[in-house]
Amino acid sequence: RLGYWVDFDKPYMTLADDYIESVWNLLKKIDEKGYLYQGHRVSPYCPHCETTLSSHEVAQGYKDVKDLTVTAKFRVLDGQESEPTYILAWTTTPWTLPSNVALAVNGELEYSLIHSSNGENYWVASGLKDNFMADGDEIRKTAMGRDLVGIPYEPVFPYVTLEGKRHVVVTSNHVTEESGTGVVHMSPAFGEEDYRVCKEHGVVFVNFVDLTGLFTEDVGPYAGRFVKDEALNIDLVKDLAARNLVFEKHKHEHSYPHCWRCDTPLLYYAIDSWFIETTAVKQQMIANSQAVNWMPEHIKDGRFGNFLDNLVDWNLSRSRYWGTPLPVWKCNQCGERQTIGSKAELLELAGQLPAELHKPYIDEISWSCNCGGEMKRVPEVIDVWFDSGSMPFAQLHYPFENQEAFSRLYPADYISEAVDQTRGWFFSLLAVSTLVTGQSPYKNVLVLGHVLDENGKKMSKSKGNVIDPLEAIELHGADALRFYFLSNTQPWNSQRFYHKAVAESKAKFVDLLQNVHAFYALYAGIDGFNPAQHQVPVAERPLLDRWVTARLHETIRQVDGLLADYDATSAARVLQELVSDLSTWYIRRNRDRFWASGMDADKASAFLTLNEVLAMLSKLIAPFTPFIAEELYQNIVRSADASAPVSVHLCDFPAADE
Ligand SMILES: [Zn+2]
Ligand SMILES: [Zn+2]
Ligand SMILES: [Zn+2]
Repeated sequence: RLGYWVDFDKPYMTLADDYIESVWNLLKKIDEKGYLYQGHRVSPYCPHCETTLSSHEVAQGYKDVKDLTVTAKFRVLDGQESEPTYILAWTTTPWTLPSNVALAVNGELEYSLIHSSNGENYWVASGLKDNFMADGDEIRKTAMGRDLVGIPYEPVFPYVTLEGKRHVVVTSNHVTEESGTGVVHMSPAFGEEDYRVCKEHGVVFVNFVDLTGLFTEDVGPYAGRFVKDEALNIDLVKDLAARNLVFEKHKHEHSYPHCWRCDTPLLYYAIDSWFIETTAVKQQMIANSQAVNWMPEHIKDGRFGNFLDNLVDWNLSRSRYWGTPLPVWKCNQCGERQTIGSKAELLELAGQLPAELHKPYIDEISWSCNCGGEMKRVPEVIDVWFDSGSMPFAQLHYPFENQEAFSRLYPADYISEAVDQTRGWFFSLLAVSTLVTGQSPYKNVLVLGHVLDENGKKMSKSKGNVIDPLEAIELHGADALRFYFLSNTQPWNSQRFYHKAVAESKAKFVDLLQNVHAFYALYAGIDGFNPAQHQVPVAERPLLDRWVTARLHETIRQVDGLLADYDATSAARVLQELVSDLSTWYIRRNRDRFWASGMDADKASAFLTLNEVLAMLSKLIAPFTPFIAEELYQNIVRSADASAPVSVHLCDFPAADE
């Protein structure tokens, strides 16, 4: 209905075994370069269902609950003060304190050292100090957060050992002075931000909670207890209090996410996860992007450039059932791992192939390790964005087939998607390609803007301002709709879309052209005009004929050049001017010639000229308004020349006469 060419005989489907095999091949190459590694990803997690939850699942389960919270005292070691000195940090999850590995301050915030009348000193953010001061307390000194970095302190529980290093203060720009103490206790297994900060500062990762939410053996007397159990948290706080490490505790009401399936309070929990070290090729990705012709150009250093500047490693794995299986097999004894890059490789190692490369079949394939253990596939599947980013290779089952086609098609001349694909397809294509070949997979990227309503507002069902495109096609015709969007504004701008605008645009191009066509058809019919029976060299035709012919060829030249520059909008406007000239000047000034009786050379010139212009126009407008183009072509060209290609869309694009 829209006039859109798609090759349904050769789609690429990411679920096909051939596609998966190519993806595996790419992953193996990435692994061979040393970029595939296992790390952790902190996600909302239900310890009862033993599964991670997506953000929309989490959003379904928020409940107001009262949890025991504690402001714990972390004793400063080697301090300059003669009195006992502590850094205070507040937590709503006392069960994370045994896993504390660092304290984070904001480097740009000011902190105060309170000297309490009880003889102790406490560091807190200056903006929050009033919450911690009683009558008679005083400020001993102040310091910026960045000046507190590296101060060693004693953890409140003895379970984390940092291999000879001490617990210290680090910085995180996510720390605020909106609540608590302006100091955040870091337990990297239980907070996304904690994880990031600790990784950045090279602080060790520890996780003392098993997949069912129970403390592991590492936590001595608390081993085996469920971390969200209220009694456990009370016991932990009592333990601290007995050692004078509690500044304050209270039951705090807050909104906390629960599992929508089983109502268990969720944990933020570090799950083993596989990553691709995209940061290792960051500079190459930036260089590749710089060489791409981004339209509009500001995407290069703006939206996409910023995204690349803040690049993090690609979290590749997903704990789901459906998807492209991660082709990594691991020994259950010695931990040896092997990445598989083809079916042939799998067959050689395992002696058999699965019915298909998906779960569950793929997980039946195993072989024995040199150590006597068994090589089993890891349970994860991969991020669908890696599938999409593999498209230049996998659509051709490269490198197993189509080497010639691949070298011809790669890198692609041109891709186009909406602006929200910056972090999606534009990124995944560039990342996979840069990792594997070092090159950009595309040369020109046309980034589309969004369609808005008459007042420039986003269309949404709730506002009732959505225009159904099929309804608009019904009302105005597909060509009018296409031409409106093409000629209205550059495609990367937001486009206002409303019926009146489409109707106005239609009157200026589609309607005019159809009127000209109808005019020709009517009078050529009356006169039984057959262009094959007449010949008048252009040079011998009247001035207006030569003028409109020149306008035609000038337009062909312009449209061709503009399309080569991916500027379909200017090209559409040039076409609109030509049709306007044709209708307003050529037809209107020449009516008498078509109406004349008989068929002298002057009248034949007029018919020939209009016939030639319409024939050329049908080819020229074919990419813009394919249906009218075809109608014109069939009536003007094919009806007179049975040997012409059967469709305008099989013709060459017209070339201008010099
Ligand atoms: Zn659950
Ligand atoms: Zn509270
Ligand atoms: Zn082994």
